[in-house]
Order: sequence, then C-alpha cells, then structure tokens
Amino acid sequence: MKSGLHQLGVAGLADALERRQVSSAELTQHLLARVAAHDALGAFLCTDADLALQQAREADARRAAGQGRGRLDGVPIAHKDIFVTTDFPSTAASKMLDGYRSPFDAAVVAKLKGAGTVTLGKLNCDEFAMGGSNENSSVRPVRNPWDPARIPGGSSGGSAAAVAARLVPAATGTDTGGSVRQPAALSGVTGIKPTYGRCSRYGMIAFASSLDQAGPIARSAEDCALLLQAMSGFDERDATSAQQPVPDFAAAIHAPRAGATSARPLQGLRIGLPREFFGAGVAADVSQAVQAALAEAERLGATLVDVSLPRTELSIPVYYIIAPAEASSNLSRFDGVRYGHRAAQHGDLLDMYRKSRSEGFGAEVKRRIMIGTYVLSHGYYDAYYLQAQKLRRMIADDFQQCFSQCDLIAGPVAPTVARTIGSQTDPVAEYLADIFTLPASLAGLPGMSVPAGFAYSENAAGLPVGLQLIGNYWQEASLLHAAHAFQQATDFHTRAPEGLA
Ligand code: GLN
Repeated sequence: MKSGLHQLGVAGLADALERRQVSSAELTQHLLARVAAHDALGAFLCTDADLALQQAREADARRAAGQGRGRLDGVPIAHKDIFVTTDFPSTAASKMLDGYRSPFDAAVVAKLKGAGTVTLGKLNCDEFAMGGSNENSSVRPVRNPWDPARIPGGSSGGSAAAVAARLVPAATGTDTGGSVRQPAALSGVTGIKPTYGRCSRYGMIAFASSLDQAGPIARSAEDCALLLQAMSGFDERDATSAQQPVPDFAAAIHAPRAGATSARPLQGLRIGLPREFFGAGVAADVSQAVQAALAEAERLGATLVDVSLPRTELSIPVYYIIAPAEASSNLSRFDGVRYGHRAAQHGDLLDMYRKSRSEGFGAEVKRRIMIGTYVLSHGYYDAYYLQAQKLRRMIADDFQQCFSQCDLIAGPVAPTVARTIGSQTDPVAEYLADIFTLPASLAGLPGMSVPAGFAYSENAAGLPVGLQLIGNYWQEASLLHAAHAFQQATDFHTRAPEGLA
C-alpha cells in the first residue's frame, strides 16, 4: 500500500492515518518525492521539505497522544499562490511580488493549518489570477497531466494539475470568474466555488473583490466537502464575509434525500438545463459527455427541466468590465513603495511608479488595468461600469427565476476540452471561453465542476470533460450531495492520467 499512497484521496488518507496504517511523515515524504519527480509539470512554485516534515511529525505526535484535530490532521495539501502565507513567499505568480513574504497567513490558510493539514508548498497560477490557461504565470506555464502539451486551465491551474497528477490529494484555489471550476474541468478533477461570502477573503491577494472566492480542488466531491468544511465560516476581517452557519458538508453528502433509495439517490431532484448552455459553440466532445452525465443523473432519479438564462452572453462584457474595474483599483497598491517591485533605475516619483509597474506587471495584467481605468473614467463610467452593474443584477434575477422551477442547474463548464499551450493569442477569444462560468460568479452563486467523461474525437481523445452544477445561495451541500451520488455511480473521477497512477 505504501507505494500507492498518492492514489488515496483526502477521505482515504484520513482513514489510513486514523488506523495508523501510515504516518503523516511517511505520507509527506512520499508526496514530496513525487512533487520533485514531476516538477516539469510546473504545478509548484515552491516547496519546503523540512517545514512540511516538521508539521507532519507534529500531526503524528498529536494523533499518538489522542489529541488529533480531526479528519484533516496530517493530510498534506498545497495552496494556490494567491493566498498569503508566512511560511512561504507569496507572489500571485507575478514579478511584482517576487520573493514577497507576508507577515500573516490568509484566513483560509490559517483555518486549514488549524485543522492540522501539512503544507507542501505554493502552487502556480495565472498572474494575479487573471486568465484561464496558466500561460499568464510570470514564472512558467503549468502543463496538463493528461497531455503535457496542453493547458491545465486557469487561473488555479497549478492546483488542478497537482491534484490530477496525484502530487497532493487536495489543494486550495480561488474563483473570480471560473478559476476553480474551469481548471478542475480541464484537468479531470473536482472543484467547488462556494457562495460569495462563504470563505473569508482575508489574505487572498485581491483581483476583483466583489467576485473573488476561495474553493477547494480535490479528486472527489467527498474530499471537497472535507476541505470546504474547514475553509468556511464568518470572519470579521472580511467585510463581505457572511454570518451564515456552516453545515456539516461531509455528513450532508451521505444524508439520503426524502423518498430516495440507494438505486435512485437523486429521486425528486429537479435539474434545470438553461437552453443557452446547450446551443452552438459547445464542442461535440463536451456536449456528448455532458449529455451522457445528465442521462446518468436521470437514471439516478433526477428530473431534467428546461430553463432559461437569457442574459448568458451578456455575462462576458459585464464581467470583463466589472472585474478589470475592480482590478485597476486593487492593483494600484503595487506602487513600488508600500508593495511590490521597485525599478532599480528611475527619475522622479512618477517615473519610479511608471517604471516599477511596467517592469513588475505582465501583459494581461496591464491590459486589465488599462480596461478597468478606462471604464471607470469620467464620461465612460455611466456607459460601461454603471450599465454593467445593472445587468449584473438582472443576471442574478434570471437565476432566481430558474430556481423557482428547479433545485440545481447543470451545464458544461467550458465550451471545449484543454487546448494546446500557445495556441490562443487573441485575448478576446480567450475571454469568450468563460461564458459558462461567469454567470454564477456575477450572481455570487455556488458552482461546482465534476468529472463527467472524456473526449473521443481524434485530436482530443482521452481529455477530461467537466459537468457544471450551480446551486442557489448557500446550497453547497446539495451540490456536493448530487456530485457524490454521481461519483458513486461513475468512475471518471478515479481515473488517473497515463503514467501518473
Ligand atoms: N478566466 C477568468 C479571467 O481571466 C476567470 C479568472 C478567475 O476566476 N480568477 O478573469
């Protein structure tokens, strides 16, 4: 069993640790060796073996003394490098923050540490979480474990790739417009973005504050439930953190629905299919796998209902006005004085700002700062930013209309499977691929990506496809429950990329 330790997910490892079949130190050693062996994937930005082993030994000692902190005690994970940490540099994969050390841990990091998790290191991502491919990392791109010539998705691509390659059983990610769900889909793993306000944003390097949420990426819904449990909860240091009770997500996935049987665990569940999610523009590989997954959900007792999200297409301009607007404001703090890189050679103060920001930010980040500054400027504010805010509200209202007819909404996560690295040079075309994840982000709703099958067409055969589930506010438990029932009946989430089993 010991050589196959990386095959176990969070729940499996928690059981093995509980039964003393393995120690956290052994497990940590095993995974650190795996991280080093698969460095070419580009998933990790840094590791600290001494620190991880020390944390692991402490977890082992707690368990031995009967003072274990629960299921996650001694389970190794890693954090997206958007979360600030005292133990590692915190860079947002940007030159701007190269070598930056935070004096405090992000709330989510502190909560997971408190639950006893061992941190192996920090994970690569798109610079400041801007992107959907991981090609925007200033350090190096991340490769998709299913095909190293392809993107893993983004911006939490390091998190998704590390989980898919079995370097860690679970990782944290962040999702502003799809950055947990889309890389999970493209890398064949499971991810959930909770309701806006569920997880504290304290210590998450800000991109678009009205949209940013943390979320776990793991191999199964059950493992995501365990992580989300530990990550959630009110935090007075985040003004938009919600005073919402946190249900026992891990228990919720096993709780039977009223009227359900073991053969039909989804009995009575109404799944809404927005017709705008199933039209032209979805690749045949994706729609085939999504349709097959929906047929499986029906077999498990769910009823499929036709619904509409008429402003789906508008979510692209709305998001790509609001997110850059907020980013342009959030990123103004990187001025070379209080935060970030300072140019070595410069003239007066303005010249210092200009040179520091020109050198520190990558092309996509600069593009967004410029778009954001433009849409907020006098004379354009009403035409762009204000209009976008009004439409954002209408998009959220459309979802409430749907939820009067169904319990969950389902559709694709991304219109295609993972493309090859370097094959997309048009930023607007790249933005269009976010069409199915942006609506739930703008509405602040929880969304999940569940491995649903694999592509069959000649150029894409074997690449993973994700099914998206969207729930109403605070309904993460229903998403996790439905995803778990689906995973009990299917094995897509258990399959490993070739050579990584
Ligand atoms: N792909 C989207 C963007 O580029 C979403 C990114 C995110 O969720 N962080 O903004």
